[in-house]
Amino acid sequence: MSFNIAVDGPAGAGKSTIAKQVAKKLSLIYVDTGAMYRAMALFMVRQGIDVENEERVIKNCKNADITIKYENGEQVVYLNGENVNGLLRKEEVSSAASKVSVIKEVREQLVALQQKLAASSDCIMDGRDIGTCVLPGADAKIFLTASSAVRAKRRYDELTAKGEECDLAQIQADIEERDFRDMNRENSPLKQAEDAVFVDSSYMTIEEVVNTIIEIAEKKRK
Ligand code: C5P
Repeated sequence: MSFNIAVDGPAGAGKSTIAKQVAKKLSLIYVDTGAMYRAMALFMVRQGIDVENEERVIKNCKNADITIKYENGEQVVYLNGENVNGLLRKEEVSSAASKVSVIKEVREQLVALQQKLAASSDCIMDGRDIGTCVLPGADAKIFLTASSAVRAKRRYDELTAKGEECDLAQIQADIEERDFRDMNRENSPLKQAEDAVFVDSSYMTIEEVVNTIIEIAEKKRK
């Protein structure tokens, strides 16, 4: 049996940064499920399919062959054989990902891939519905969040450091819109699993959050 940690929470809570570090320290693989929804969104955008047209998305999602490989310890997402890692973080793809992810058929296809990965490897998996739907039997579950103001500021600093011009208020509004969609959708909404540990990272350092999660995981591993 593999050892699985589920991490859920809203956009920008620091899930991927934290999960990557925990993975390294505990020798687990890191599974980024958001990247799979992003790859699906990229596929639709490239095909010129309106992601709000549910019928067309359902008809076409099976043509997106999404596979995951690990290269130098990094998760690489292949879309129909092409490494698309470099294309998944664009704003257009982020927004489309949150729209395709409301569709049940898309979720079923990607959840099957996620469950297969978790069954075959010790992993820490992050997303929105990992503790509630994908891995309800996960060994440890964390719900990681932070206030929307703090999450927006983190994103703003990240973009500014890259030299990109951006507007803090707009970033916060986008984050809140995405949270609302993720929490209020019919299929697998973002919600804390009953047996998940709640961690608010608003006023914690990355190291503090990493250590908190490691502590929780080690207790469960014993
Ligand atoms: O985590 P990330 O921001 O990369 O996820 C992109 C989008 O994919 C999210 O806005 C969310 O709507 C969706 N998602 C999801 N379920 C997951 C992971 C991501 O619905 N397990």
